[in-house]
Amino acid sequence: MSPKHVEAMYDVVIVGAGAAGLSAALGLAHSPEFAERRAMGEDPAVLVISKLQPLRSHTGSAEGGIAASLGNVEHDDWHWHYYDTVKGGDWLVDQDAARLLAQEAPATVINLERMGVAFSRTEDGHIAQRRFGGHTADFGQQPVKRAAYAADRIGHQILHSLWQQCVAAGIEFAEEWYVTDLVVDEACAKVEGVVAFDTHTGTVHAVHARNVMLATGGAGRLFHTTSNSWDLTGDGMALSLDAGLQLEDTEFVQFHPTGLAHTGILLSEAARAEGGVLRNAEGEAFMERYAPGHADLAARDVVSRAIRSETDAGRGVPDPRDPLGRKDCVWLDMRGIDAGHMHQVLPQVVETIHKYMNLDPTTDLVPVKPTAHYTMGGIPVTTDGEVYRWADDRRAVIDGLFAAGECSCVSVHGANRLGGNSLLDACLFGTRAGHALAARLADAAPADTTGDDRVDAAAERRRTEVADLLAAAKDADPQSDTQPDDNPYLLMADLGSLMETALAVHCDADSIAAAVAAIEADIAPRAAALHPHNETAAFNQELTAIWEVRHLIALASAMLRTSEARHESRGSLCRSDFPERDDERFLAHSMTDAAGRISWQPVRIEDMPPQARSY
Ligand SMILES: Cc1cc2nc3c(=O)[nH]c(=O)nc-3n(C[C@H](O)[C@H](O)[C@H](O)COP(=O)(O)OP(=O)(O)OC[C@H]3O[C@@H](n4cnc5c(N)ncnc54)[C@H](O)[C@@H]3O)c2cc1C
Repeated sequence: MSPKHVEAMYDVVIVGAGAAGLSAALGLAHSPEFAERRAMGEDPAVLVISKLQPLRSHTGSAEGGIAASLGNVEHDDWHWHYYDTVKGGDWLVDQDAARLLAQEAPATVINLERMGVAFSRTEDGHIAQRRFGGHTADFGQQPVKRAAYAADRIGHQILHSLWQQCVAAGIEFAEEWYVTDLVVDEACAKVEGVVAFDTHTGTVHAVHARNVMLATGGAGRLFHTTSNSWDLTGDGMALSLDAGLQLEDTEFVQFHPTGLAHTGILLSEAARAEGGVLRNAEGEAFMERYAPGHADLAARDVVSRAIRSETDAGRGVPDPRDPLGRKDCVWLDMRGIDAGHMHQVLPQVVETIHKYMNLDPTTDLVPVKPTAHYTMGGIPVTTDGEVYRWADDRRAVIDGLFAAGECSCVSVHGANRLGGNSLLDACLFGTRAGHALAARLADAAPADTTGDDRVDAAAERRRTEVADLLAAAKDADPQSDTQPDDNPYLLMADLGSLMETALAVHCDADSIAAAVAAIEADIAPRAAALHPHNETAAFNQELTAIWEVRHLIALASAMLRTSEARHESRGSLCRSDFPERDDERFLAHSMTDAAGRISWQPVRIEDMPPQARSY
């Protein structure tokens, strides 16, 4: 079924149906402005486009919890949450945004509860909370239980509840549509719409829109070992680059310390919060040596680097399924957790270990290694979700363009994100973007029936490209010796290995330069030559995979560029050739574009001047 207004003009198009996109849709649909338009007999034209069926969005995989100083289990205070967030981000956090995050967190969680999220409960019926790395009371004095959870399936609960509310509110979805282009005007001052490919039919649509919001999630597939699902190919960020816009702080990628060996599938931090301990090949619980007092619940970058130091020093344990037999893992020892309790609060962790490793964490040691988990950088946005460019030393907002969630950078995470803060970021700033969109709904005249022809022109270019790609599939002779046996999946795997060698956990100028050269000489030409192997347009997943791998390459280049430009170590970025943090030169956000330009934008420091690094 085609969306109602697809040939006309939408008031709002939201790209992405995870926590951020759905929160925005609900922020909009539950607003007084929306109700007013409906009461006047005008149904605002709102469309959520998702390349996946919404319930398959990666938000559904979130395990451990969502941070909020509810104080249900131990006394807590939003000022402490604010401090932890800024400190966790190694002072690269915009403090106006982080203050808002911490202040609004309890209301955001309670709102989720009202939407239907079935949180785990305390004995007296309140939302239960658990410990998470970096969550402290009294400005770093002692750990505090701040992560509200639903066993270890918080994301599943949130995604299903938000989606059900969207269905109840009558939100229109275009499911399994892949957005190929973001269209802005020539001056990059105003959004015009998007181009979308309906994977069911193979049809390209020009979707004109007054307002567009990008909520396309992260880009973990840039790395071979990642906790992210297959769809996280950084599309929204690459679409922005392609449209001539900038990305902020792309050099910061979080490696979660406990990816299951071989697959990289996440074993939630909750496993250590509930008593799991990391051990090296000698059986030593080594984290106390690296982060006294914080040990296994030190910040994720600290734990990931400690694991790498142990394996580099020859104290690693083998990944049982690695064909090269590398000892790049350490043990996660959960045997000290009461078995009954483990099954009750960590069912997903137990099941994952059993299904993918055939081990029982109540009795077996589990091999783990750092896994690419979260992109702190992304599309630069204000706290109302408006996308901007950094030009002439000021923020220039792009009229009608919004973003939220992992694809965006409101800069609450700075150089590293605390556990539980990203669902909060996606839900809170997604909702705020929804409210900002609602305000524009009130201002806007009723939807036009004709759109700007830049969107039509972009759609026409895509139609030609699709026809050419499919024609190449037709021409390809599978028996021919000269037919290269290349495909987007192979290329994605090669890019993932390259990026892992170049940037994972630590890097230096040489590792970055080697990856840049390999992309230029091998990866980029191969990407340009890709074509599908089947000539059918409908359900041709290889077509979308070609666009995805091209998006990843654009993003990899931006990431390598900004990693090279930042001559310091901060948060998740550990440059072995510049081991110190350098506030004098680099207490600044990097802004980069597709042309390779880099500029630096000041960090908004309002209440807390930077302190020296600790854990
Ligand atoms: C395994 C795992 C566990 C996690 N656990 C936690 C946790 O316990 N606590 C926490 O706070 N955070 C956690 N996170 C992080 C958090 O889940 C994510 O950052 C957050 O859910 C991202 O939400 P989102 O809405 O931005 O994106 P997503 O949920 O990833 O949704 C992206 C959406 O964009 C759509 N899309 C993408 N590209 C296109 C395109 N080209 N065209 C059309 N649609 C497109 C997709 O279809 C999808 O609907 C975890 C992440 C992982 C991977």
